[in-house]
Amino acid sequence: MKCYDNDYKWHKKDVIDRCFMCGGNSERLFVVRHIASMKMVHLCPDCMVDKMSEYCLDNTRAWKGNMIKGD
Ligand SMILES: [Zn+2]
Repeated sequence: MKCYDNDYKWHKKDVIDRCFMCGGNSERLFVVRHIASMKMVHLCPDCMVDKMSEYCLDNTRAWKGNMIKGD
């Protein structure tokens, strides 16, 4: 596992293969930044749409690690 840039701090309650909001393990999770805490979390598409004003997609730099387990 590669070290991430300091700007990528994960929320301590985030779980890699679960949605941060609803806890569902959707096969498609978005990596987004929680604006209030500036921490990275995973969101399923439903919560992403629901909470769009509270989270933003952070694609300001290349994503180096593959956080999704399996293939
Ligand atoms: Zn969700």
